[in-house]
Amino acid sequence: QEKRYDISDKLELIDEQLLALLKKAGRMADSLDFDLYIVGGFPRDLVLGQVNHDLDLVVEGDGIEFARELSKELGGHLDIYHEFGTAVVSLEDLKLDIATTRVEYYPQVASLPEVEHGSIQQDLFRRDFTINALAIQLNQASFGQLVDYFSGKKDLEKGLIRLLHNFSLYDDPTRIFRGFRFASRYDYNFEENTEDLFKHAIELDVIEKLSSDRLFNKLELGLKDRNPVRFISLLDEYNILSYFSPGIEWNHETEILENNVTKVLDWLHDLEIVTSFEEWVLYLIVLVHGLNETEIKDFANKFNINKNLFDRLMTSLKADKYIRILHDAEDNSAIYYLLQGLAIEDMLFLLIKDFSLEEEIKLYLEKLQWTDIEVSGEEIIALGYSPGPIFREVLDEVRKAKLNGEVETYEEEKEYLEQLLAERESE
Ligand code: ATP
Repeated sequence: QEKRYDISDKLELIDEQLLALLKKAGRMADSLDFDLYIVGGFPRDLVLGQVNHDLDLVVEGDGIEFARELSKELGGHLDIYHEFGTAVVSLEDLKLDIATTRVEYYPQVASLPEVEHGSIQQDLFRRDFTINALAIQLNQASFGQLVDYFSGKKDLEKGLIRLLHNFSLYDDPTRIFRGFRFASRYDYNFEENTEDLFKHAIELDVIEKLSSDRLFNKLELGLKDRNPVRFISLLDEYNILSYFSPGIEWNHETEILENNVTKVLDWLHDLEIVTSFEEWVLYLIVLVHGLNETEIKDFANKFNINKNLFDRLMTSLKADKYIRILHDAEDNSAIYYLLQGLAIEDMLFLLIKDFSLEEEIKLYLEKLQWTDIEVSGEEIIALGYSPGPIFREVLDEVRKAKLNGEVETYEEEKEYLEQLLAERESE
């Protein structure tokens, strides 16, 4: 049953340029005699008071024809995907995804759906959750009306994730992960029947139907979303972690570590040093850190983990050892020689496990890692030596002295170098 709401107060949140664009699109649809809606994340987030820049438009009529006309009017680049009946209009700083309203049938569990043109109601009904099945009409006469067939607005207000129909998770098991993502992102709960449907589908092993690539991608999306810790705890609550590795355990210790990730990221942010890494990887390292070597290798094989990520997971096996070494480090050079072999993610994982190492790691990141000596082989040659293994040895000694603050200037480096060479002569 269709309900329409006036959401003028929310429309005010949209910046003028975007609003003008949506109105223009609405008038274009009018001229073609099509109904036009914006659907998906945009209406959901707008009701929540946020402007989402994913613009999914659906046309009751002919989406491709509409896209052609719109791109003529707006300029920009048009891509048409005939096989899907969709199009993308790319403007300078945003893009519009355009589709014809459609209805989907799933001939088998987790198979690709068969698609036909349908009404806006059918198009909304094929979606995952009521909160994602809202539309805002863009045609001039109804511009900005929120169209709600499935009480999505009420569920948004109550903070409920509700499936649209009972077979939804069999049609597409990835919705399980989408559900966890939205529940954790917005801190929502599952509506009672939906919760049962989740439990049943999971008991019936629908997740087994997903390829490992897709499975890993769903995990990655969850870890990249706004509340990875709750996302993981939902995976645990619904007994899904074992699909990733039978050895993964979600226990009190893991939960503490997962919560430490934010603290460490904030700490790093305050340091204002330039580093580049993906934050979600830290959550992944914590998630799998209890696995043994064989289990990590199996995990990496199953999910086609790239070399760099694999190395991070393997390093986590040695974290306790590294933590001990750092605690025992007697001088800066000992810190340097340990940390220099680690990636930033590895160091942050050490901190996640033991934040009392913050001074050591800060010192390394801010200072030690940039320590360079000015003397080189040239100075040694100038002193009459010919190149050999001794060069590296004495230069290393100079570097150590520099790291420990025993020498600072070029002159001091050089003096120390001469002293080292003289000592070796006399040995
Ligand atoms: P996000 O804020 O994460 O981008 P979104 O809801 O916009 O969330 P998209 O993946 O861009 O996510 O999907 C857009 C819309 O398409 C959704 O709001 C939903 O209506 C529909 N949708 C996406 N994936 C599915 C799915 N697996 N099953 C059913 N509907 C889906």
